[in-house]
Amino acid sequence: MINASLKQLSQALAAKQISSVELTQFFLDRINRLNPTLNAFVTVDAEKSLNSARAADARIAAGTAGLLTGIPIAQKDIFCAEGWRTTCGSKMLANFVSPYDATVIRKMEGEAGLVSLGKTNMDEFAMGSSNETSYFGPVRNPWDNGRVPGGSSGGSAAAVAARLAPAATGTDTGGSIRQPAALCNLTGLKPTYGVVSRYGMIAFASSLDQAGPMAASAEDCALLLNSMAGYDERDSTSLERSAEDYARDLGQPLAGLRIGLPKEFFGEGCDAEVMAAVRAAIAEYEKLGATTVEISLPNSHLSVPAYYVIAPAEASSNLSRFDGVRYGFRAEDYGNLDDMYMKSRAQGFGAEVKRRIMIGAYVLSHGYYDAYYLQAQRIRRLIANDFVEAFKVCDVIMGPTSPSTAFTLGEKAADPVQMYLSDIYTIAVNLAGLPGMSVPCGFAGGLPVGLQLIGNYFAEAQLLNVAHRYQQASDWHQRRPAGIE
Ligand code: GLN
Repeated sequence: MINASLKQLSQALAAKQISSVELTQFFLDRINRLNPTLNAFVTVDAEKSLNSARAADARIAAGTAGLLTGIPIAQKDIFCAEGWRTTCGSKMLANFVSPYDATVIRKMEGEAGLVSLGKTNMDEFAMGSSNETSYFGPVRNPWDNGRVPGGSSGGSAAAVAARLAPAATGTDTGGSIRQPAALCNLTGLKPTYGVVSRYGMIAFASSLDQAGPMAASAEDCALLLNSMAGYDERDSTSLERSAEDYARDLGQPLAGLRIGLPKEFFGEGCDAEVMAAVRAAIAEYEKLGATTVEISLPNSHLSVPAYYVIAPAEASSNLSRFDGVRYGFRAEDYGNLDDMYMKSRAQGFGAEVKRRIMIGAYVLSHGYYDAYYLQAQRIRRLIANDFVEAFKVCDVIMGPTSPSTAFTLGEKAADPVQMYLSDIYTIAVNLAGLPGMSVPCGFAGGLPVGLQLIGNYFAEAQLLNVAHRYQQASDWHQRRPAGIE
């Protein structure tokens, strides 16, 4: 059961070999036992989870269950969930209980019948690549407790890697699904911008944020995406497209698939052992019938600098709502109204969030707007155009997800620029709004390595199949960290 795929869990539930209550209790017991070390969950409410499990069992008994009904899942604490504390990893929201469900929660739990096991730890307001900026303390990587799980969806990644949950949700603004998936040996997918509703997902950088699944395999991710995606009138950037089955292509042969290898991703800056694992995976794809072609993304070296103008600009605006008035943290002692604002924000936000708010306010300010924000937007267009050109000669782009394996706790915490470079291969995908995945492809020094797959707009089903075929031919994704049984 601990290593079962979502399909296997679904079959066991349908055949009444196990109930959702038993399955939920099984994972709650694991959380109880292992979470004190990993710190992957910030909120667990067994009674709430078991109530949902009972409702799922009733649906199964009544014959109204869907494929995922009754399967437990971990939810990143960035999604508002009715009656659940929703913190976004911040002191600012440490006591905030959401009065409503995000669309992702409504669809996954309300409609599909997945059972929430709790809310997972994350970098504060999703700003980070290591989970060390969380108000609730760092998450530990199940592969090595002295190392980070990646971020910002580090709690979700650690939870699934240690099998505290069969699967989880994440969000990805610059790499936060793909990078922790890579560092924890998981499969993760960031969909095309606009495919999954952002309603009720606490905003970091609205033009970049996108939610997606994190799980053991591409097949699991496809089933989860089916339950998450879809047009939502409550999100003005949600795309009005008809529903699709993201599992429909699983099993298609890869013969003739053209893989683009950007020369900028295969140069310097990547750990040699990581690169060796990535190259071995590409060789495996050639055995499966794919061909490779060298491509260029000539503006990709500008993605990190452009992102660190655009994302903070949007964040400074989004985070202005946390003012101590309507909800969230309010300082205890203050003089007048201005003083209340200042003290609440000074005490409620952590250092990384303040850094981003200051950068954002600066690049948007009169006199600097043209020099920074407008320039960054122009670069964003050039980066997106690079991909348009690349997809004229290839079907999918491959390269490393992250330049290194999991680093040690504290290693990059004092050096923001080093931390920002963790996302050097992932950020361009968000700037362009494209779908991207990370797939386990081997180990370096005993730590997992992720292969990144980038597809054209709306190519999720194809990407998932490209990952799935590789997972049928290799078993990297089935490896589990030692000592978690
Ligand atoms: N690490 C990047 C940042 O800190 C991306 C985070 C994310 O994708 N949420 O902004």
